Parts: sequence; C-alpha cells; structure tokens
Amino acid sequence: MDLTNPIFQHEDKAREHLEATRWPHGPICPHCGVVDEATYVGGKAARKGVYQCNACRDQFSVTVGTVFESSKVPLNKWLLATYLMSSSKKGISAHQLHRTLGVTYKTAWFMAHRIREAMNPTDPAPLGCKGKVVEADETYVGAKEHNKHASKRKEGGGPWNKAAVVTLVERQGRARSVHVANVTSKTLGRVVRTTASRASHLMTDGAKQYRDVGREFASHASVDHTAGEYVRLGFHHSNTVENYFSILKRGVIGTFHHVSEQYLARYLAEFDFRYSLRSGLGVDDEQRTDELLRNVAGKRLTYRRADKAA
Ligand SMILES: [Zn+2]
Repeated sequence: MDLTNPIFQHEDKAREHLEATRWPHGPICPHCGVVDEATYVGGKAARKGVYQCNACRDQFSVTVGTVFESSKVPLNKWLLATYLMSSSKKGISAHQLHRTLGVTYKTAWFMAHRIREAMNPTDPAPLGCKGKVVEADETYVGAKEHNKHASKRKEGGGPWNKAAVVTLVERQGRARSVHVANVTSKTLGRVVRTTASRASHLMTDGAKQYRDVGREFASHASVDHTAGEYVRLGFHHSNTVENYFSILKRGVIGTFHHVSEQYLARYLAEFDFRYSLRSGLGVDDEQRTDELLRNVAGKRLTYRRADKAA
C-alpha cells in the first residue's frame, strides 16, 4: 500500500476496500446485526454501495454507524487521511492534511478528530499480566488553554500550559496515556490501577506517588533517574516509556505545535494507537491502517448471526 494505490484515488475502490476490511464474512447490517443476509440494491451513482437487509428490510452502506458516516468528503480521501495518520510516526497536522487532501482546513481538522475517535479503544484489556513488565511514568506536554472560539481552534499559537500525562507501557506491548489534572498518589494510583493488570511487574521512576499502588502489584521496582541509575540496563529500566515520551513530545511540539488541553486526550489516543501497533512489534503501515478501518464503527454495535435474528 502506498499513496498511488487506487483506493486513495477512486471512491468505488475505496468503498470496496472498506467493505472487504470491515466485512470479511459478508455485509453486516448495522440496524439488526445480521451478517451476510443482505441484497445489493446499488446502481445509480447516488445509490452505490447500498444494501438491503433481508432480515429487517432496512437499507445500509459500509459507512453507516462509522466515523465516516454522513460526510460529503469522498471516501477515498477519508482512506487517505486514515493512512496518513496511521503511518506518520509523529502525527500529521490538520494544515498538512488540508494541503494533501485538497479539502478546507476546517474539514481537515474535523476529519482528523473523527479518525482519532476510531483510534480510541473503547473497551481495552488491561496492560500486562503475570510475568510481564509494565512501565509507568509521567511527563508534561505543552497544552493550550481551552478556547471556545472555533476560529482559534488551530494547532499552534495561543497561550499554553504544561499538562500532566501519565503513560503506561507494557514491554513488547501496548501503551495507554491519560491526561491528569495533577500528579499525586491518588491520581497516579487511579490511572495505574485502571490501566494495568496487578499480576504484572510494575516499573516506575523513584517518585513516591507510585509507592502505595506499587505494593498491589506482583512486584514494584523503581529506577532513580537522578542517580544515573538508568544506565543499569537489563530488567530495571524505564526506557520503553521514555521512548514513548520522546515520540509524543516530538509530535506535540514538532507536528501540532502544542495541542489544546481540551483535545489532549484525543491526541494521546492517537499516539497510543500508533505506538501499540508499532513497526518494532512487526506491524506495518498497511496492517495498522486496516486495524483502524476495522475500528471506525462504534463498538456499541453487536453482531448477530442470521439464525438468531428473526
Ligand atoms: Zn438488518
């Protein structure tokens, strides 16, 4: 997959690709959940991609119930935006998307946020498990203050504060980041408890805020950065989470020129998504993009087999 792929040039090819990715076992009715019991009724231009469900008789297309629904932007541009956001390690700005896709800045900004919604895992499994190491660390990123004027919602410019972010990374696994109002034992403890399996080994810096929650884990070790102890590699290190922070900061500063605190959680979901499916784990750009396309539908949809639907 590269930028010359027909799915990025032609709307029909884009729709066929989305159908093949989202519906490997046949069309799924978003209204009643029946799989592969639909009749294609498309034909004329405006009806392309329309199916009628044989169970509930409702009509649908592959974008119903997804973040692409009811958009005037052609689906091939949505797929291109999805690919660019999945494959750019440090993210891609709305300005760059606007120029690359040939849509207005406002549309590009909106598309990027819709795609970030799909990057957000709605019901993620805890990080780590017995025998696994989970590293936790906190950092501060530049975040603009909330600004309610739509015209000022641009990336870049404006007053900004430092916003605290707690990130947990499972070694050789996924990352999850949470924006917290302050760095206390209470807030860090809550993030660590709700994100990581307590059967895992917890690795943190020397901050005393991790001490209490650390006792609940299979083991807890801390690395004292100030003492130059982090050079003692092997098991006791927090290089994985520090690597995550370096990518996050290069993205927030270099690509987005500081983000609005109001939207920080969405940007964190974006960096978590790419990092959790990083090339170092053997995931390529195409696989990462397809994973995102499988997640464009709200997870609220539950699919049923035809025989149970009547
Ligand atoms: Zn149906």
